[in-house]
Amino acid sequence: MKPQAPQSIDFEFPPPAGTVVMFRGQRYEMVGTEPYTRKDGSEATLLRWASHCARCADPMEAKTLPVSNWINRRCDECKAPGVRT
Ligand SMILES: [Zn+2]
Repeated sequence: MKPQAPQSIDFEFPPPAGTVVMFRGQRYEMVGTEPYTRKDGSEATLLRWASHCARCADPMEAKTLPVSNWINRRCDECKAPGVRT
């Protein structure tokens, strides 16, 4: 049996590229990181995730902090304007 992919984004350290998580049935693969400065000026690392839009299935990319309770499920085109998805 394959090890189960984590169901949440909860990493103490940024995981290596290629790490897969499942979030609400959607698959996300880590493709890299980028530096991020929080509003308070402290440094953090954003994780970049490759996935497919939950609506149109187009490839998309989402970014989260290593610990996050949300990740975009839809591409920019499918996000309803002004509505937080
Ligand atoms: Zn879409």
